[in-house]
Amino acid sequence: MENTKLLELSALIFPDLDDCDTIESLEEKFPERNLPEGTKVTRIAPSPTGSMHLGNLYGALADERVAHATGGGVFMLRIEDTDDKREVPGAVEKIIKYLGGFGLNFDEGATAQGDFGNYGPYRQRQRAKFYHIVARKLLLEGRAYPCFCTEEQLEAAHKAQEAAKDNFGYYGKYAIHRNMPIDEAIEKIKNGEKFVLRFKSMGDPSKKTPFKDSIKGNLEIPENDQDFVLLKSDGIPTYHLAHVVDDHFMRTTDVIRGEEWLSTLPWHIELWAACGFRRPRFSHTSQVLKFDEEIGSKRKMSKRKDPECTLEFYYTTGYPRTSVIEYLMTLLNSNYEQWRSANPDKNYREFPFSTNKMSASGALFDIAKLNDISKNVIARMTAEEVYEGVSDWAKEYDEEFYSLISRDPEYTTNIFAIGRGGKKPRKDFSCWSEVRDFISYFFDETFKVNENEYPENITVADRKAILSEYAQVYKTEADNNGWFETVKILSEKHGFTSDMKAYKADPTAFKGSVADVSTVIRVAITGRQNSPDLFAICNLLGEECVKARVSAQA
Ligand code: GLU
Repeated sequence: MENTKLLELSALIFPDLDDCDTIESLEEKFPERNLPEGTKVTRIAPSPTGSMHLGNLYGALADERVAHATGGGVFMLRIEDTDDKREVPGAVEKIIKYLGGFGLNFDEGATAQGDFGNYGPYRQRQRAKFYHIVARKLLLEGRAYPCFCTEEQLEAAHKAQEAAKDNFGYYGKYAIHRNMPIDEAIEKIKNGEKFVLRFKSMGDPSKKTPFKDSIKGNLEIPENDQDFVLLKSDGIPTYHLAHVVDDHFMRTTDVIRGEEWLSTLPWHIELWAACGFRRPRFSHTSQVLKFDEEIGSKRKMSKRKDPECTLEFYYTTGYPRTSVIEYLMTLLNSNYEQWRSANPDKNYREFPFSTNKMSASGALFDIAKLNDISKNVIARMTAEEVYEGVSDWAKEYDEEFYSLISRDPEYTTNIFAIGRGGKKPRKDFSCWSEVRDFISYFFDETFKVNENEYPENITVADRKAILSEYAQVYKTEADNNGWFETVKILSEKHGFTSDMKAYKADPTAFKGSVADVSTVIRVAITGRQNSPDLFAICNLLGEECVKARVSAQA
């Protein structure tokens, strides 16, 4: 009798399901993956509700490395789009584009060309039936029930809990619909009353269960007693039910997710068990933190306060993807830097990645360190690679600069060749948007001289005399020595010594030194006091250009 009533209730709650929609049918449709022992299956499961942030990339890189570091694993992209009110149009495409742009390619999941893989669909909204199948099983086994509480009732309970200093939530005596007779529930549903489907917890929070987290270590988790919501009133699952169903039927071996889920882990432990599914391994990643100078302590990164928090920032600012990945690897695994110094030329993919080496307490983001790493990454690139990186970036984010540098790609590549290679390559820039200013003097359109750059200790008359003569005598030299010889002769002629020892012994005996004269010339040609090797710059600019610039300043 009771059983017939339960079936009637279930038919009312799940009109979309018929008898063939069973757990067994799902088990058959999504069988265990036929993978060698130890192979990992991971996923990232972003919600398309806003811009991606660094934490997403941090987590995604961990997922990708766990799946691929030992070879043969599967890395999936699952779109958690159950909150359609907060969904931002185009967010899914951005997730795919941004993560792909960092070289994190998915083996399965939502792709720009649609879903790919045998364990889909990979977008939660298209998986409604699967959640209902599992929810129905829980209902029929007495582990779920409809709850008709209104907002007002829930609020009143919350207030009563506050006054009684009780825990918040729907449990124990506060779970007023938990034991409602089935007839009554049927009646209410027939009358069109709104309801949610709640989990029926059997836990006792005074008891603890051991739980092994691959990052946080061995934990003691109190049992759950909350009758949390499985299905919302529109039949859409909460994260709690959805992740269990998805990770079970997608055959995820390792759930790597943010530590904000630790607080509801007791719910999940009980739900996995109630469903009768084998739980995957869990790794809860620490948040990415930042040191806030203003408050003098660490805090969570925020999209509102920290531009570097969004992934968009790395694209618009033009960080090479290898720099960002390289930096995140140092944040992810404490032994990465050591490995990198021992293996400077290896690809990061060769590093033996491990969740055990992830920080349990928080990864501290430091943009100065990223810039440093990026400078090293760029310094190791060939001139051709730098040209490619800069022009790909400029094409999208700085059209004017793009047209300048792509007019003569060989010329621009030669700019990047100056000071490159050799034991101590120059480390000028950390991202592509810094390049424009750095190389502006190589193009007449962007070259300009700021008078203030000229050394103060040289009179305008001396400066002009030096430049006027240099314009006369300058010619392309075969080597640096020949070039410097001309500058020395010129210096002596104008009362600036090229004998640095003599100059140091008595600076008052001279107007200045050859270094001052070089600076004057450098400013006239490049507009600045600091630049890469001036001889190389002059050769690239060409005799005509050098002479024209110098005489214009004479
Ligand atoms: N959509 C969830 C989030 O963005 C996914 C958590 C998980 O990876 O399980 O936090």
